[in-house]
Amino acid sequence: MSLPVLKNYINNEWVEAQSKVTGDVWNPATGKKIAVVPYGNTADVDLAVAAAKKAFPAWRKTPPLSRARYLFRLKDAFEENFEEIAQVLTTEQGKVIDEARGEVRRMIENVEHATGVTTLMTGYTLEDIATGIDCYGHRQPMGVFAAIVPYNFPAMVAWWFLPYAIVAGNTYVVKPSEQVPMTQTKIMEILDEIGLPEGVVNMVHGSRDVVNGILDHPDVEGVSFVGSTPTAQYIYKRCGETGKRVQALGGAKNVVAIMPTADIDDGMPSLVASFFGCSGQRCLAGSILAPVGDKTDEVIKKFVEAAKRIKIGDGIDQETGMGPVGSAAQRDKIMAYIERGIEEGATLLLDGRDVQVDGYPDGFFLGPTIFDNVTQDMTIAKDEIFGPVVSIVRCNDLDAVIELVNTRDFANATSIYTGSGNDARKFKYEVTPSMVGVNIGIAAPMSFFPFGGAGNSMYGDVKGHGQEIFQFFTDTKVVIERWF
Ligand code: NAD
Repeated sequence: MSLPVLKNYINNEWVEAQSKVTGDVWNPATGKKIAVVPYGNTADVDLAVAAAKKAFPAWRKTPPLSRARYLFRLKDAFEENFEEIAQVLTTEQGKVIDEARGEVRRMIENVEHATGVTTLMTGYTLEDIATGIDCYGHRQPMGVFAAIVPYNFPAMVAWWFLPYAIVAGNTYVVKPSEQVPMTQTKIMEILDEIGLPEGVVNMVHGSRDVVNGILDHPDVEGVSFVGSTPTAQYIYKRCGETGKRVQALGGAKNVVAIMPTADIDDGMPSLVASFFGCSGQRCLAGSILAPVGDKTDEVIKKFVEAAKRIKIGDGIDQETGMGPVGSAAQRDKIMAYIERGIEEGATLLLDGRDVQVDGYPDGFFLGPTIFDNVTQDMTIAKDEIFGPVVSIVRCNDLDAVIELVNTRDFANATSIYTGSGNDARKFKYEVTPSMVGVNIGIAAPMSFFPFGGAGNSMYGDVKGHGQEIFQFFTDTKVVIERWF
């Protein structure tokens, strides 16, 4: 049976890619190919950017409230197709269906938040900045913006940016991850139904050539990127060279502290979800567990027991607790990190390498894996593994935990489980990562707060969504006015 070949969405039409280079899309649970994705080239990017550029003048003149009305329609269309999007997402990405539903919900929340444009995009004024002179700062849309997004959240991440960009009057080009292009294709099919003017939103499939086409294109005003830190660094640098606005969100190595006063039984479900949810492939996932004090052995015992109870399987099955990782390559990379942990002398408490799932001999599965007695300088305490592997670094006190957090190469997120307000305050105050959980394992800002880390986890000044995103997508034009 021949596999579906995906198309680009340009000018409200489904078009075959100019490039004839293609890649495979896999179902990570079955290990089978399910679609073919074009790897577009600069000609494909040129078509999409030209369509977006042509659409811009009329779209920017469309009143903000009228632009928002398209998003109201889109929200309804997404709700009607909610389950279908989640099913496609799980099929190509692997995460369990409830996680996929959660992701689609977070995507829709950004559409909802962006409809507040008529208050969120307002500028400011001051009369009489000098005698008889008034001053206004208007926020104006700028033109064509683009998103380049990762494989772990195929639906949501592009929508941390897209709804705000277009509701502010810009036009848009999305490049989905070539590993999971079907979800955004489904989303564009739904978007197509709401009757946006031609060229306001476009999608080009592909890999590096499409990214470079976007980065080099003189008509692209700004780029929102989410992915690994090396790619984020590349994007940030190239946007600097070509004079584009940029927000580039990178990787993570998140520490979760467990203080002696923590209520570990109440906290355990969220703790387990932090490390093993989405098979550890979240930029907010716990990666290092840092227990402190005399309850450490008890905490570790309960954590390992809870991890052992997770049911591994196809994410589409409602009973599954943890799905496969995203690709065979990702599984191999994680396996290599497990071997490295053993070589470097960490104690392997739980080994997920030999997990078998009945009926799925070819799936990219890995079970929960837990190392104890990890030291700060081991590779598994430093690199982003991006899988269901936990490094336990035992700490003497809160100062040691804070030092551990602040000496990682990444600064995306961190959490503390504690019963002490004093400990919580010190932790919140002193840690570098800019998404912090207190008795919360996944410190995920909702659409109305900014999303993004610090240090090597984020390059640029304006984060994803939140109120500030309107600054990224607009230029503040200041008018100083006097009438004689
Ligand atoms: P990735 O960096 O490999 O790919 C991200 C995007 O960049 C994809 O669209 C890909 O096609 C493109 N790309 C990859 N290599 C490129 C290159 N050399 N030149 C040009 N373009 C390139 O990331 P990934 O593996 O898809 O996603 C996982 C990573 O994303 C993890 O590091 C994770 O922490 C990170 N992530 C971060 C956040 C955050 O908010 N900070 C959120 C989600 C994921």
